Amino acid sequence: MEAYLYQSLEDKRVRCNLCSHRCLIKEGRRGICAVRENQGGNLKSLVYGKLIARHIDPIEKKPLYHFLPGSLSYSVATVGCNFRCQFCQNADIAQMPADQSGMIMGEKFAPSQIVDDAIRGGCQSISYTYTEPTVFFEFAHDTAKLASDHGIRNVFVSNGYMTAEALEMISPYLDAANVDLKAFSDQYYKELCGARLEHVKATLKLMKARGVFVEVTTLIVPGLNDDPFQLKKLAAFIAQELGVETPWHISRFHPTYKLIDRSPTPVKTLTTARQIGLKAGLKYVYTGNVPGHAAENTYCFSCGEIVIERRGFQITRFNLKNGHCTSCQARIDGVWE
Ligand code: SF4
Repeated sequence: MEAYLYQSLEDKRVRCNLCSHRCLIKEGRRGICAVRENQGGNLKSLVYGKLIARHIDPIEKKPLYHFLPGSLSYSVATVGCNFRCQFCQNADIAQMPADQSGMIMGEKFAPSQIVDDAIRGGCQSISYTYTEPTVFFEFAHDTAKLASDHGIRNVFVSNGYMTAEALEMISPYLDAANVDLKAFSDQYYKELCGARLEHVKATLKLMKARGVFVEVTTLIVPGLNDDPFQLKKLAAFIAQELGVETPWHISRFHPTYKLIDRSPTPVKTLTTARQIGLKAGLKYVYTGNVPGHAAENTYCFSCGEIVIERRGFQITRFNLKNGHCTSCQARIDGVWE
């Protein structure tokens, strides 16, 4: 499948403009994501419709807590990623082409099959998730466009590294996104992820400007991005640039992939980070990967009552009516229907 968003250059080289790496790719070579290849001066997506994962998930698993809570999301992925996070939680599929000599696996599907399956499965949305949707952009775009025609919403769970051009192309069909803001340090992005912070900040701001409903996730890795001063700057960025209504998920790290020499994040660290978020003015701050923690619930910012009670991905109590707290009638930010 010919790739979207690239330029042909001299000597059969191409420039890929899909993500902020903007790889310059010689004939016969692939970009950093290892799933886009220059074949005779044309850039090809090697993963169009080759799905490595296909599941029906609760939308809470993305995590999205303020977008159609309690609904099901048809969730798909191909292999590949444009980041190299040392703590990748899905490295077996996300890093497969990079780590295993270009290997690409997956079962072939057409966009229409995914949309039909989502409708049959009672899903209100399709999520492009598990790996990085930007690197399977052509398939995500075509599926999202068709899904929109059928009244199905579309969700990206993303590292936020797509270019403005890519976002412009997908945004008419993109209803919501959970974007990782992995740290507020360019050094962290460079050394642990192989990317740059500034591009992620730009994508987040542009998503908001384009009307995409955004929630932000930060995985706290002990000793690497848990400095309270850095977390204060991160929380201030969300509050000031994205808006205090933006939900922030602070997630617990577990040793995995190339970071197996560290302990899981102490719950106390997550609690401190949450307090930092609330102090910055954020109205909805959650802790993730700690089932049963009180900060899994949504609290009304006005009266403090629980408006959505959760246990893991399950909703156990729902005190919202038409998006308003049933105790004090305050409007809770989100997409509720
Ligand atoms: S999607 Fe990003 S990493 Fe992949 S080829 Fe294009 S610019 Fe490079």
